[in-house]
Amino acid sequence: MIQSVLKTVQTVIAQGVESVPQFQNEKSKKQSSEWKKAVCPDCNQAIHLIESVKTPFWGHIDRESQCKTRFNNVKGKPVKWEQQPIDETYLCPSCQEGYLQRRESKKKKGTFFWGCSNWKSGCKHIAWDDNGKPQE
Ligand SMILES: [Zn+2]
Ligand SMILES: [Zn+2]
Repeated sequence: MIQSVLKTVQTVIAQGVESVPQFQNEKSKKQSSEWKKAVCPDCNQAIHLIESVKTPFWGHIDRESQCKTRFNNVKGKPVKWEQQPIDETYLCPSCQEGYLQRRESKKKKGTFFWGCSNWKSGCKHIAWDDNGKPQE
């Protein structure tokens, strides 16, 4: 009698263990391993460190690639580029180094202005938008 109860208990325990979902070893798949491969998350094609410019960045060197995603080079790893690619149509008249970038005002939607791409280096030049061109 006692033995049969024990058997039942053992069976329940065994079933209980079996029904526990297998531990998924997700944590071993670190996100950084994807970066080592340097694959663009947008198009799954290879990205390369482009060092022949003033500020090295990661991007596609294959000119046939339609993907324009760029990444900042942070300690040898690509980090998503927050800014739009720089529009080099209008040279900044103030610092003569940066280019004027058309931006939409965050406060007033539909209102555009032009700011210098060199703002990180301290250029505060801003021009109002004149039908898609920076106002003189
Ligand atoms: Zn891409
Ligand atoms: Zn400037």
